[in-house]
Amino acid sequence: MPFLIRLKALLSAFISFLNDLPRKHFFALIILFVCLLIISFLPSQSVQPQHIKRQLVLPIQSVAQDKYSKAEPIEALEPPREVYGNADIDFTGTREIQWIIKEGDSLSILFQTEGLSAAVLHELQEADKSHLRLGNLVPGQEIKLLIGADNSLLALKIKIDFANTLSFVLKEGAYVSLLETEEGVWRNSYFKGDITGSFYINAKEAGLSAGQIQQISGALQEKFDFNRQLRVGDTFHVLVSKQYIDGQYTYDSEVLAILIKTSRQTYSAFLSEDGRYYDENGKGLGKAYRRSPLDGRNRISSSFNPKRLHPITKRISPHNGTDFAVGTGTKVYSIGDGIVQRAGYHPAAGNYIVIKHGRKYTTRYLHLSKIYVRAGQRLKMGHLIGHSGNTGRSTGAHLHYEFHIYNKPVNAMKVSLPLSQEIPKKDKKAFNERRDGFLKEMGEI
Ligand SMILES: [Zn+2]
Repeated sequence: MPFLIRLKALLSAFISFLNDLPRKHFFALIILFVCLLIISFLPSQSVQPQHIKRQLVLPIQSVAQDKYSKAEPIEALEPPREVYGNADIDFTGTREIQWIIKEGDSLSILFQTEGLSAAVLHELQEADKSHLRLGNLVPGQEIKLLIGADNSLLALKIKIDFANTLSFVLKEGAYVSLLETEEGVWRNSYFKGDITGSFYINAKEAGLSAGQIQQISGALQEKFDFNRQLRVGDTFHVLVSKQYIDGQYTYDSEVLAILIKTSRQTYSAFLSEDGRYYDENGKGLGKAYRRSPLDGRNRISSSFNPKRLHPITKRISPHNGTDFAVGTGTKVYSIGDGIVQRAGYHPAAGNYIVIKHGRKYTTRYLHLSKIYVRAGQRLKMGHLIGHSGNTGRSTGAHLHYEFHIYNKPVNAMKVSLPLSQEIPKKDKKAFNERRDGFLKEMGEI
């Protein structure tokens, strides 16, 4: 085989080369080889961030309620580079800390423990203004911190609940916040039942939740009296859309369609994209939205401005809402039917309320002096939800009001709102198609 012959020739050439070498050169070559061998076996100096995992036991404080807190075990820790994405972080000398929140933990105590300044927490809270998620910690939540060699906070990531993860990354000297929300999938379930006694009991037996039953009676409240008009033998038919993330029901649901069949008449309600219920002909069942959450005309002291520059830092600091110049104690109303998604205190926003009006619209009311509603509560348009105030980081009494479409803030004073009682002509075709889709799923057509 020519290959073996060539190898042999090469080997003998190499041996004769070694033999021909002066003795000093030969030994130098041997020493060099041994040195290389030793170096290659030395442990390498890696710049892997130090990984610290701890559980803190801190004094008991009031703990926020969160319906998802017990729902799902927290996911495993990912490698740091993936966690903090493309944030241009120099990982040399960094340490990564992970906490699983226990009862009584608070961010300020966690920051103190790690030697991070209160000013940093303050900056994060400012960066969280567009999300309002960096509030009370809930047991089971997971927080990761990436701390630099100089003990500066480079990044923070917190799993807020089942669907939401909030992170802050230091970029060019300022913290940038990001809220990642898993949309999961929405699947429809059909429920039906016969009236044998009270609607509430029969609906529960059919598998509907208390919240869904409330939504059903709320939708038809002005058309139908569930206590007086139902008779034994009447039937109800309900289509509900439920959200699932990783196959788990998140307890977020929407009642899409309702039919109440009595011996004399069928009452129906269909949820439109705008978060309101309409009958089969597109006539509104509830009250329409209102433009302003306040009574009367009020001066706007600061308008919605996504490109506003911060007066001191000169960085872009969007004004996501409309500020009304009203004194403390002015009545604030829900601008439409909805469900209170969150209500509480945020260091930057003060006392705040977030109301979800269907899947599309959300409204927020900030710096309130008083809150009269709680999370999970269903509201009608015009429900008194609180009083305006000057809480949180606010430079004077006013109401900061935000309007979001699919979780993106828009100008509340300019957005086209469903203000009329009927489905507008241009939307009628889409409404009819949606209604017929629901009826098909319910086996009605
Ligand atoms: Zn404002």
